[in-house]
Amino acid sequence: MLAVQAVRTGGPEVLEVVDLPLPSPGPGQILVRHQAVGLNYIDTYHRSGLYPVKTPLVIGLEAAGVVESVGEAVTRFKVGDRVAYNGTMGAYAQAAVVPAERAVLVPDGVSLEVAAAALLKGMTAEFLVRRCFHVKQGDWVLVHAAAGGVGQILVQWCKALGATVVATVGSTAKATIARDLGADHVIDYSHEDVAARVAELTGGRGVAVVYDGVGKDTWEASLASLARRGMLVTFGNASGPAPAFPPLALAPKSAFVTRPKLFDYIVTTEELDESAQALFAVIASGAIKIDIGQTFPLAEARAAHEALEGRRTTGATLLLP
Ligand code: NDP
Repeated sequence: MLAVQAVRTGGPEVLEVVDLPLPSPGPGQILVRHQAVGLNYIDTYHRSGLYPVKTPLVIGLEAAGVVESVGEAVTRFKVGDRVAYNGTMGAYAQAAVVPAERAVLVPDGVSLEVAAAALLKGMTAEFLVRRCFHVKQGDWVLVHAAAGGVGQILVQWCKALGATVVATVGSTAKATIARDLGADHVIDYSHEDVAARVAELTGGRGVAVVYDGVGKDTWEASLASLARRGMLVTFGNASGPAPAFPPLALAPKSAFVTRPKLFDYIVTTEELDESAQALFAVIASGAIKIDIGQTFPLAEARAAHEALEGRRTTGATLLLP
């Protein structure tokens, strides 16, 4: 089967197309024939070495497809089931072996492409708005990189929960996307002062929560935009990791900072299933639309990484095997 390996850590050039034998599922595992692979920013951290991995490695954490064979003692799925998964390394391939306990059934009415585009990013939005910080009717929320994969879903989910959403984006075209998704206010941080605009919009009060997947470049503005007892959820490093800070920096507003990751919110299969069901429900109801902004052949994963890191993508990106 065709697969894409990071042969060592580094820039997009370390991604190489390789031919590997089709794996067979061991006890408790399923072999999934991929229809679509989800590209996620975390793939660039594995490739670059920001999150340490052992190379050579077939990277990628998310795909959707059809169960081709099942290992011993698998009762959760049968051959032919439509499934998706989002936490097992090795997705940049035409097929992968996955623990049955870490995959979910894709409901009728949701395409495998949408499942691959939505499962990791959408379940991230799910835990961020419902469990990490519980967004409520009337809350003011700041969402960074709102035209991106996770950002688009966050904006829509916060709106569905009754929040007032301030969205940041890096270009005029992305501002239009954020507005069309329902963002109440859009700030283009390529030339606007985020904290000053948030203060102006909120009458100096600030926002209850900031969802910050940008990291280094937005850290200061995010802290400065919080209301008293507000929470800064710093969940990604698109511009580089957020800096170290003294706890005393939180004292002026009694602020909270958390640095969560999805896999600590879907530890058990029950948590995984609940999160997936909540996501599929908001997709089925039409409350959240999944935008597949661009697709690349799997063999062109390198170009896909360049586009994602070059801020040239919007919504979700799929790699097609
Ligand atoms: P996106 O589609 O959001 O792409 C990243 C976006 O970040 C870009 O499009 C760009 O939007 C913005 N950005 C700002 N500064 C930079 C920069 N210097 N370089 C590159 N991009 C920049 O990616 P994803 O939806 O895949 O992920 C979004 C974030 O969420 C990532 O940080 C990711 O690691 C994190 N994440 C965290 C999870 C967790 O469990 N903690 C789970 C899933 C995702 P613009 O041009 O508008 O600024």
